[in-house]
Amino acid sequence: AAYVEVKSLSKTYPNGTRALRDVSFSMDHGEFAVIVGKSGAGKSTLLRCMNSLTEPSGGGVEVDGRSVTGLSGRALRSARKEMGFVFQQFNLVKRISALNNVLCGMLSEMPTMRSVFRRFTDEERLHALDCLDKVGLADRAHQRADTLSGGQQQRVAIARALAQGPKVVLADEPVASLDPESARTVMDALRYLATEEGMAVFCNLHQVNLAGRYADRILGMRDGELVLDRRSGRLERDE
Ligand code: ADP
Ligand code: ADP
Repeated sequence: AAYVEVKSLSKTYPNGTRALRDVSFSMDHGEFAVIVGKSGAGKSTLLRCMNSLTEPSGGGVEVDGRSVTGLSGRALRSARKEMGFVFQQFNLVKRISALNNVLCGMLSEMPTMRSVFRRFTDEERLHALDCLDKVGLADRAHQRADTLSGGQQQRVAIARALAQGPKVVLADEPVASLDPESARTVMDALRYLATEEGMAVFCNLHQVNLAGRYADRILGMRDGELVLDRRSGRLERDE
């Protein structure tokens, strides 16, 4: 069975907008897939429905044979740990260090100011440092998040997702607010999670050129429907 199975996902917003129409696809371990399409095509809705940030109107998602949709409470929180989510605007806690942001991501509850200053064990700190190292930021661990560049902040957000030990990483326009050089460092970090850590990585992008350069697979969406699914040029050359 596939690692990630998206089955007939649909979403109609309360105002009647049909943002997803029967979307199905599957992903394997270690696959980096990018979805492209015009603004309003439904990409962000798809990512958010996969993680239950938005409740789908129909269909479901399975990760590693387990349903991750239609859950609530503890089961939902547990499913979310298996699916790291990276936001366009990073969503870091600005006034604490990169390392503390990653540590907070390892908490089972929402971070509060109290939990930020809770004592983490050496083991937890080493794990968080290791996650920062994987995105090339070990040397920035103690720098305050809001003093890092946009690309560095987004990589801290990726390290924070990584620290939960997810099976899947979903990234919603992760490079949309970054300059081209920073965007490349972030795409490299996402690609690393797929190729070196074996996660299924799925993100949406405006920039089709970046999609072709980094992803194994490109999905295309238009008016809430998948209209394209192909292995990218990069992979064809490797095969
Ligand atoms: P992006 O797709 O660039 O992430 P947004 O998610 O903010 O942008 O919005 C995408 C589209 O969804 C926009 O056309 C916006 O007007 C519409 N939209 C977002 N939130 C709502 C809402 N609560 N009600 C109606 N339309 C919304
Ligand atoms: P994309 O990420 O491809 O830009 P979205 O998933 O943001 O597309 O939006 C898909 C469609 O759903 C658009 O028509 C958008 O206006 C609409 N939409 C997005 N969010 C909401 C919302 N919260 N309420 C109503 N409509 C929304």
